[in-house]
Amino acid sequence: MHRLTIEVITAMCAWAISAVGQSVSTGRLCPQGGPYNMIELVKKLSPAARIYCPGTEEFEEASIRWSVLEEPKVNVIVVPGTVDDVAETVKFANQRKLPFLAYNGAHGAVTTLGKMDHGIEILMHQLSSVEIAKDGKTAKVGGGTMSKTVTDTLWEAGKQTGKLMITVTGACECVSLLGPGLGGGHGWLQGHYGLIADQFVSMDIVMADGSRTIIDKTSSLWWAMKGAGHNFGIVTAVTTKIYDIKHRDWAIETLVFGGDKVEAVYQAANDHFLTNKTQPVDVIHWSYWLNNLDANPNKPVIIFYVIQEGVKAVDTVYTKPFHDIGPLSAEAVGGSYTDLAEWTDISTSAPPCQKAGLANPRFPIYLELYNVTAQRKAYDLFASAARGSSTFSRSVFMFEGYSMQGVQGIDPESTAFAFRDANLLVAPLITYLPADSDLDKRAAKLGEQLRQILYEGSGRKELRAYINYSYGDETLQQWYGNEKWRQDRLQALKRKYDPEGKFSFYAPIA
Ligand SMILES: Cc1cc2nc3c(=O)[nH]c(=O)nc-3n(C[C@H](O)[C@H](O)[C@H](O)COP(=O)(O)OP(=O)(O)OC[C@H]3O[C@@H](n4cnc5c(N)ncnc54)[C@H](O)[C@@H]3O)c2cc1C
Repeated sequence: MHRLTIEVITAMCAWAISAVGQSVSTGRLCPQGGPYNMIELVKKLSPAARIYCPGTEEFEEASIRWSVLEEPKVNVIVVPGTVDDVAETVKFANQRKLPFLAYNGAHGAVTTLGKMDHGIEILMHQLSSVEIAKDGKTAKVGGGTMSKTVTDTLWEAGKQTGKLMITVTGACECVSLLGPGLGGGHGWLQGHYGLIADQFVSMDIVMADGSRTIIDKTSSLWWAMKGAGHNFGIVTAVTTKIYDIKHRDWAIETLVFGGDKVEAVYQAANDHFLTNKTQPVDVIHWSYWLNNLDANPNKPVIIFYVIQEGVKAVDTVYTKPFHDIGPLSAEAVGGSYTDLAEWTDISTSAPPCQKAGLANPRFPIYLELYNVTAQRKAYDLFASAARGSSTFSRSVFMFEGYSMQGVQGIDPESTAFAFRDANLLVAPLITYLPADSDLDKRAAKLGEQLRQILYEGSGRKELRAYINYSYGDETLQQWYGNEKWRQDRLQALKRKYDPEGKFSFYAPIA
């Protein structure tokens, strides 16, 4: 019986600590018996590795996730200090028949993660590094590096040489590079260079059996790592393309509208950005529907951003159509690339980044255009469910209109990421304080209804869902593409590289 309860493990940890008189986090001691007896693993780990057991402050802190809905159940945490530590931990878990899961930014929220039952968390944080190649064209990024660390390190290095550098990361600062990147990865620079995954040049991976390998475009696995990568291994480092920045300046205009302007705002977005794909590569439009009690105590407002690269203020040609609609307020700010996350409320200190004990399911859908009638229907439902002091009042409906030229310029068949032709990444995020399964069901019903409205409005046969935002009940076709060849290829690769399904917790292929 290998499913020891948390209580038993805690007791064993406590025994181990008192027996040696050391803290678990520095002494790397843990349970002494059963499959979780970590002594055998400890002998193989580097001095930099850490093991955290339940009942310790370190364990509590290192197991907190952004969404508490259907969380993985963790019994022991290993914090590798080296790549070999990752490999040894995987081998150890396999020997003991224990499930394991890499933790990085811990912002993954797909409910399939909940299938990790009494397993080993492999916390990647010590494998955080950014090494810029001498030719300045690539950087080797450790498997546990956060988005912000990548951007800040490149930026700082550039300041010293006088040549500022960037790469595509997630727009949000609090996610890792690889969590988003293995599923595609959207970010501010994708209009120029494509998705995060499109930047990858090679990868160091710990495979399902604990062996280490380095792959690049010559490997049959390469295609799958760019869109379905969570299913195949733990990436301990990735070499990724970097670029000299084209423009130092960026600017944003934030327009706030009442809900009465839904049709006008999204018609204008269609007319000026989406119909005929006229959104320029250096312009991004985003919007949120959320409650802002100052602006309107009764109904969510529309926060509409127009962002432009290479200017000190957004060109009025892009903002005038929205000013003409009559916003409640408008604010223009200028700065640099590194200000974008703060401007759009997704910096490390912003509320959406925090791990606050909330359930955070999302229900994503990729779209080409806004269907204005569907936007109205969705707004009315969202407003009635999220209004005032209701259970779902912290919810946010997100509409991400990144520029797409870089993404769409890459052969769609060249990656497991399947949805390059879409223009918009849209998702209701139903945020609430968890209570019971009835509430979870109500939240899921609301999210599904909102997505269904937009899906019906899209006129498409198939629903396309970004795996990194997905709820967890989507089909394989909805996650990885409707084409039979894609599904066959993924299944064949899964059989070859992970036949026992060790990496089958995050939007699993099998
Ligand atoms: C506030 C917020 C902002 C977001 N912003 C963006 C954005 O700008 N762009 C975007 O595309 N997505 C974004 N997302 C979605 C994001 O891509 C997913 O939430 C992603 O899972 C987060 O990765 P993580 O490392 O933070 O989470 P984790 O939960 O730690 O990781 C997610 C999954 O990836 C696996 N994993 C992590 N690291 C590795 C590795 N080194 N090797 C193998 N597997 C690994 C984990 O095992 C897990 O299954 C955002 C999400 C949130 C909550």
